[in-house]
Amino acid sequence: MGYVMPVTGTHIWYYFICKREVWLIIHNIAADQEDENLEIGRFLSENTYKRNKKETLIGNIVVDRIRREGEQIVIGEVKKSSKYKTSAKYQLLYYLDKLREMGINAKGELLFPTEKKKELIEWTEEESIKLSKVIEDIRKIARLPKPPKPEKISFCRNCAYREFCWAEE
Ligand code: SF4
Repeated sequence: MGYVMPVTGTHIWYYFICKREVWLIIHNIAADQEDENLEIGRFLSENTYKRNKKETLIGNIVVDRIRREGEQIVIGEVKKSSKYKTSAKYQLLYYLDKLREMGINAKGELLFPTEKKKELIEWTEEESIKLSKVIEDIRKIARLPKPPKPEKISFCRNCAYREFCWAEE
């Protein structure tokens, strides 16, 4: 069997925002690490829920929160806004899927501390099928000889690749 590219939670997150970015990340195109928005993101993730902050590594998955609710494990992902909720939802479903492969039956929780919102994410057969299609599509994007053309979206303003995509403007 040929090489099967490993897909990560990060690829899934960007898939719902910008397919060009998925390609750039997979092909290791360096983003501007000094980018101010990345800094803000880092600041927020380091400073929200600080008292409880404890990342947990399960296999190659890093989860922001993990707790037990009776017999069930609940994993939580902290996000800075609900604007990219679809991305966050499928990233979390991917983690739930991976945990199931390890025999761990878990449910997920999306936490948006700055908006004081919380959303329950449960693994279902139907969502798992959707997720498999997304993963398949990410692998297709990875195989493209060059990145998909940039499309101007609101995320571009906050994207570390914005110089790379829009430098001539
Ligand atoms: S700048 Fe815009 S088009 Fe370019 S990778 Fe980022 S989100 Fe995609």
